[in-house]
Amino acid sequence: MNKLGIFMNFWEKNWDADHSKYIAKAAKIGFDVLEFQAQPLLEMSDEKLKSLKAQADEVGIELTYSLGLDPAYDVSNPDEAIRLGGVDYLKRIVEQIGKMDGKLLSGVSYAGWGTPPYILNDKRPLLENSLKSMREIIKVAENNGVTYCVEAVNRFEGCLINTAQEALDYAAQVDSPNIGVLLDTYHMNIEENSIGDAIRLVGDKLISFHTGENNRTAPGRGHLDWDEIFGALAEIGYKNRIVCEPFVMMGGEVGRDIHVFRDLVADTSEAAIDREAKYILDFEKAMMQKYNM
Ligand code: MN
Repeated sequence: MNKLGIFMNFWEKNWDADHSKYIAKAAKIGFDVLEFQAQPLLEMSDEKLKSLKAQADEVGIELTYSLGLDPAYDVSNPDEAIRLGGVDYLKRIVEQIGKMDGKLLSGVSYAGWGTPPYILNDKRPLLENSLKSMREIIKVAENNGVTYCVEAVNRFEGCLINTAQEALDYAAQVDSPNIGVLLDTYHMNIEENSIGDAIRLVGDKLISFHTGENNRTAPGRGHLDWDEIFGALAEIGYKNRIVCEPFVMMGGEVGRDIHVFRDLVADTSEAAIDREAKYILDFEKAMMQKYNM
């Protein structure tokens, strides 16, 4: 059975939070995976990393990591000082993940998160810069047992990789056993002609999968076709993680960065969000059962 996960910022309005609390919470609700932004790892001592990892092991939670790269560390930037600073920054993050025996890093981690403020008529030079950077970063990922998941994101969050095909092409050009593709239903809903076809196109290169509705609420609450999605995952024999990444509360850094300008659930109390997380788990388990996953 696929491991099922949840992103920590379903509950928290700021990217950094009490990771220990959410390891315990995710386990109690019944998840197998807790995912959170990787940047706070840079601020943690080795002792802190080890204690979080030990706690996660004890309750049977795998920790996975995502990030939206600060444009100050944009590894696709034509300014060589910025690009090299970004390479160093991402190498350090991958090393921190490695210290926790972490296996996965996803998100917009191949370029600065966001879109260029200038007219862009040809993105190939940016892509070449990113690839040049990634060929360096991936060596550190290989040495640390970390797999880099290239996440295709919608046009408002990045210009380099918007589709499954672009993510596949990018991974192929890096050419490492430690790079693969992550698809996210929220982004695919905006960019793909067919979500099912995008999943089938990536096939065995699909390393991790993010779920979220058309408006980033919990799966089943919006208008995405979950039969198409789970049917396609079953068709490709998908066995990897499925991590739900809903963002439903206005405010904080998360509201600012994800553009959440209203509450998308009626009740934002912690108890109500806990209940919604349990609903997500039950919904995804039922869909997996329906498609014999
Ligand atoms: Mn995602």
